[in-house]
Amino acid sequence: MTAKVKVTNLVKTFGNNEVLKGINLEVQNNEVVVVIGPSGSGKSTLLRTLNKLEAPTSGDIIIDGMNIADPKTDINKVRENIGMVFQHFNLFNNLSVSENIMLAPVELKKEDKQAAAEHAKRLLKTVGLESKFDATVQSLSGGQQQRVAIARALAMDPDVMLFDEPTSALDPEMVGDVLAVMKNLAKQGMTMIVVTHEMGFAKEVADRVVFVDDGNIQEQGTPDEMFNHPKNPRLQDFLDKVL
Ligand code: ADP
Ligand code: MG
Repeated sequence: MTAKVKVTNLVKTFGNNEVLKGINLEVQNNEVVVVIGPSGSGKSTLLRTLNKLEAPTSGDIIIDGMNIADPKTDINKVRENIGMVFQHFNLFNNLSVSENIMLAPVELKKEDKQAAAEHAKRLLKTVGLESKFDATVQSLSGGQQQRVAIARALAMDPDVMLFDEPTSALDPEMVGDVLAVMKNLAKQGMTMIVVTHEMGFAKEVADRVVFVDDGNIQEQGTPDEMFNHPKNPRLQDFLDKVL
């Protein structure tokens, strides 16, 4: 079986700051990988290099068989297959909910507007926001906006979804709805890489948990291995702080 995502010896430096120090990571089709680790350890940088929002300093990143570190690779084609959800939603506030969702399929994939609208309706249903098709972004709560952001990412029919702390900016009462949408997505077989501090989600949904600290993967394993039998003292220390 070939991996959906294969990262080999990934190094990323900003000036003198070596943030990723040789990451090796494989993610299989349908796998849910949850990335945990302290603030500043390089989790966001790792996700951002996967769709070349940051260019790798060295190493290889192969997604669906295409090496995105290779300058000859058409990065826009690769990006169409990678959905990304950020901490701060990044919706277009001047567009309606449906316009946000339809924008990329219509502009990039040249999807027919009617078909894109039907697709947007179905996606809004799956994130529990059927009634918000024509709503303005500003009229929505943070949790609703994040669910629209997930629908927008799904509108391109990606085969990998990347989530960077999708619930960290939300009021506590909104977190559950967003996690429920992500859990459903995992159940449907979506390949997902999720950076989160929600350890309950990691325990319940992750096939594999990856602990990043100081620019390296220090330990990885099943949720049971990671949470109940952590080996690396850094992981034990981290879990003591967050659990
Ligand atoms: P995490 O997501 O685990 O909190 P980040 O990947 O955001 O960590 O950051 C890791 C390190 O990289 C930090 O020291 C941060 O300051 C640095 N960093 C991240 N992005 C940039 C950037 N665009 N320019 C310079 N330094 C950066
Ligand atoms: Mg981060």
